[in-house]
Amino acid sequence: MASETSEQRRVAVVTGASRGIGKAIATRLAADGRHVVLVSRSAGPLSEVRSEIEQAGGVASIQAVDVGDLEAFASAIESIASELGRLDILVNNAGITRDNLSLRMTNDEFMEVIRVNLASVFVACRAAARPMMRQKFGRIVNIGSTSGVVGNAGQANYAAAKSGLSGLTKSLARELGGKAITANVIAPGFIETDMTSVLGDEIKSRVMEGMALRRLGRPEDIAAAVAYVSSDEAGFLTGQVISVDGGLTMC
Ligand code: NDP
Repeated sequence: MASETSEQRRVAVVTGASRGIGKAIATRLAADGRHVVLVSRSAGPLSEVRSEIEQAGGVASIQAVDVGDLEAFASAIESIASELGRLDILVNNAGITRDNLSLRMTNDEFMEVIRVNLASVFVACRAAARPMMRQKFGRIVNIGSTSGVVGNAGQANYAAAKSGLSGLTKSLARELGGKAITANVIAPGFIETDMTSVLGDEIKSRVMEGMALRRLGRPEDIAAAVAYVSSDEAGFLTGQVISVDGGLTMC
C-alpha cells in the first residue's frame, strides 16, 4: 500500500467494477492507495469486491447505479464527489455488447450500446470535471476497445461507441488540460472476461495468431496500464488512445 493518509488519499471512481476488467482496475487502484468507489448496477457483487479490497487492507465504497440512466448516473457522480470531498480519478469502464451484422442490427441495439458505452461517459466526465477543476487535478481514463480503433464485423454499434470515446476524450483533454486534468483512452484487445467467454476456441485461436504476444490478455494487463495513466506521475500524458492488446493492432 502507498503511504497516503486518508486526507491525501485520492478518490477513484471505477464503473463496471463488479467483475472482469473493472474489478481488476478497482483492486489495483485500491492496492495503490486510492479510495475506490465501485460502480455497477447491482449492490450484491459490488459488496463482494469491496470485502476483498478491505481484506487486502484497501479502502472502497459502493454505488449501485445503471450508467445508461444518464440523469441518475450524473447525480451519482456529483454525490460521490460531494460526500467524499473530492474526485481525483474517473475510470469509465462499464460496457456492453449487442452484436449483430449491420443489416440486421435494430435501432434499439444500436442506441442501447451508444447510450451505455458512450453517452454515459460524457455525462460522467461532465459531472466529474467540476470537482477536478476546483482541485486543479484530475485523471479521466475511458476504456475503449481495439474494435473502436480498427472496426469489427458484427460490432458497428460497439465500434462506433468506442471510436466516439476517442473524439470525446481528446476534446476533454483540450478543454480541461489548463487545470492539470488529463484524459486518455485505454483500448484493450482481447481480454479473458465474461464478455468474451461466449466466443469459441476457434475464434480465440484465430485472434491469438494475429497477436505479437500470442496470448489473450488478462484483466490485470489493463489494470496496470490504467494504474499508470491515472497516477500523479502521468501528468504529461493526455489526449491519447493507448492500445493494450498484445500487439494485435499496432496502429
Ligand atoms: P464484463 O461484461 O465482464 O463486465 C462488464 C461490467 O460493466 C460489469 O461490472 C457490469 O456490471 C457493468 N455494467 C454493464 N452494464 C452496466 C450498466 N448499464 N450500468 C452499470 N454497470 C454496467 O466486461 P469486461 O470486463 O470484459 O469489459 C469491461 C470494459 O472493457 C468494457 O467497456 C468493454 O467494452 C471493454 N473491453 C473489453 C474487452 C474484452 O476483451 N473483454 C476488449 C475491449 C474492450 P453489472 O452487470 O452488475 O451492472
